[in-house]
Amino acid sequence: MAPQTQIREVIVIGGGMGALTAALYTARASLKPLVVSGKGLDQLSLTSEVENYPGFANGIMGPELVKNAKEQAKRFGAEFVGEDVIGIKSAKGGFEVSTLKNNFLGRTIIIATGASARKLGIPGEEKFFGKGVSTCAVCDAALFKDKATVVVGGGDSAMEESLALSKFAKNVTIVHRKNEFRASTIMQDRVLQLKDKISVIWDTEVIEVFGDRFVKGVRIRNLKKGSVSELSADGMFLAIGHIPNTLFLKGFIDLDDAGYIKVAGVKTSVDGVFAAGDVMDPRYRQAVTSAGTGCMAALEAEWWVERMKAGGKF
Ligand code: NDP
Repeated sequence: MAPQTQIREVIVIGGGMGALTAALYTARASLKPLVVSGKGLDQLSLTSEVENYPGFANGIMGPELVKNAKEQAKRFGAEFVGEDVIGIKSAKGGFEVSTLKNNFLGRTIIIATGASARKLGIPGEEKFFGKGVSTCAVCDAALFKDKATVVVGGGDSAMEESLALSKFAKNVTIVHRKNEFRASTIMQDRVLQLKDKISVIWDTEVIEVFGDRFVKGVRIRNLKKGSVSELSADGMFLAIGHIPNTLFLKGFIDLDDAGYIKVAGVKTSVDGVFAAGDVMDPRYRQAVTSAGTGCMAALEAEWWVERMKAGGKF
């Protein structure tokens, strides 16, 4: 496929708060950004109420926050394309960003493709995905009214998912591979206080999900004794961390061992390519930090374009 002849000043890849903030800032700087993002939903769009985004005293629904940010970027001239990016390479005067349908040209690139929920890779997990297996209790909890549910994981997400489920489900069983949680004390306490609703099975892993049309239960193995047993459940919620969406970047820019983009501030290993949000941040992973790094990447991109122009590079 021949590349498009039009070269954009900025291409932003991604659809979450990092990408949308980068789009807003570069649009307001009259750089007319093209925002390319695939069908996968960003994490905020999979969340219900966001209570910790400054400026919304009574909270705001995640999807609404994202929709507003997109409208705001559009108002200043950002253009959106709904296609998955499959690769980037250097090209004359900038970079070529490829999707299955198009090859877009950009002088500078901002990557904000986020991270996706990690899966266990066990039998039944894919088969029952959306039929009882979920990576977002906050989104799906209401579907499990008076049902038995299992949450896998021991971090803050697992606590958050368990609390969300406890409002609807008959019971929540947390299955954790260690004998202690890594979640913050405050989150653990909230969970452990709800003894009548939430119980914990320690030192145990889920090795299979089974059912007919929908999930009927999980097979679990005690890691200390090796004993295998079954647990009846209508739903299994995975809260075992995230994997950065960087597969399409392999060989193009430097990634760390976990696949996150290596950055100095928001600068990647390739001059003229910047990164923002969860794709470069395994630590903070907040909507507001994504917005912050999205802003930083946009300013760097703007200054980079100005420098290149002033230096007669394009
Ligand atoms: P974490 O990496 O903190 O926790 C992942 C959990 O999943 C760990 O308990 C880990 O076990 C377990 N796990 C990982 N892989 C597997 C596997 N293959 N099988 C079984 N268990 C597995 O991820 P979170 O998503 O919970 O949190 C990420 C970051 O986001 C953290 O910094 C957290 O503090 C933050 N966060 C904050 C919230 C809040 O404050 N409200 C809410 C949600 C997240 P092990 O402990 O054995 O390694």
